[in-house]
Amino acid sequence: MKYAIRTRHDLMSQEIRNHLKERFDTLGLSEDNTEPDIVVTIGGDGTLLDAFHHYVDRLDTTAFVGIHTGHLGFYADWLPHEINALAEGIAHGKYSIETYPLIEVRMSKLNAEPQKYLVLNEATFRLASGTLAVDVYLQNELFECFRGDGLCVSTPTGSTAYNRSLGGAIIHPTIEVMQLTEMASINNRVFRTIGSPLILPKDQTIKLIPTGAKKCILTIDHHTELHEDVTRLDYELSGKKVQFARLKASTFWNRVHNSFIN
Ligand code: NAP
Repeated sequence: MKYAIRTRHDLMSQEIRNHLKERFDTLGLSEDNTEPDIVVTIGGDGTLLDAFHHYVDRLDTTAFVGIHTGHLGFYADWLPHEINALAEGIAHGKYSIETYPLIEVRMSKLNAEPQKYLVLNEATFRLASGTLAVDVYLQNELFECFRGDGLCVSTPTGSTAYNRSLGGAIIHPTIEVMQLTEMASINNRVFRTIGSPLILPKDQTIKLIPTGAKKCILTIDHHTELHEDVTRLDYELSGKKVQFARLKASTFWNRVHNSFIN
């Protein structure tokens, strides 16, 4: 069993990293930052997002597990005092794998090859300044002409993140859907949007065509990119999934409860 540890740069996370590495080495696991079977993150959900994108080309063979040293911990649901149990569970293979849906985004620009991204939480689209104007197509049919701050397309596990702040629903990750939420749409006698989140089943697509866009901001989870001349964005559920190693009997609703209510 080969492991990698990715850590937030605070002292507490670094200390836990040293302790966990010592436990793993004693239990006979070998550290391999290039081709790990399991990646343990120490920090928060942001650290887990960072690890996901670092190992995005190894999703078929690498599983993730997160220890949180902050206040939340949705993906990262292990506590620092549980690391001995975590290390032993991993070393003795006492875990199951849960897989969660991902979204594939394809961005097309003038005079450039389309770029593809895999998304664990969400992709948002905004303008660098001013009001975003985009035609929204569902299944290649024009659904609405959006005017407002931006649009967010989230995965089920991302539904508890930005999507939730935008008034989107929390989706159980066994339901393979993607959710489109609005950021401050303009609704008046001239401009009209549906005004509520939309949940699309597997195999359905979203297409955005910017109308008169200048500089756009595309966020992919915690990454932010500035682009010009974006002609089209396509979203669909990916054939790939992310694997999480589950060692304790915490359900999705436990994690939602512990993250937001407890
Ligand atoms: P950040 O600003 O440090 O993180 C924002 C918060 O989102 C953190 O508390 C983070 O938890 C939490 N979070 C991330 N993924 C989550 C999930 N799936 N469910 C519940 N909470 C989650 O930025 P970051 O660490 O780079 O993370 C980027 C994420 O921030 C984006 O993917 C987006 O979802 C979220 N975000 C939210 C808003 C908003 O709600 N208004 C605005 C921008 C971005 P930890 O503290 O455990 O890291």
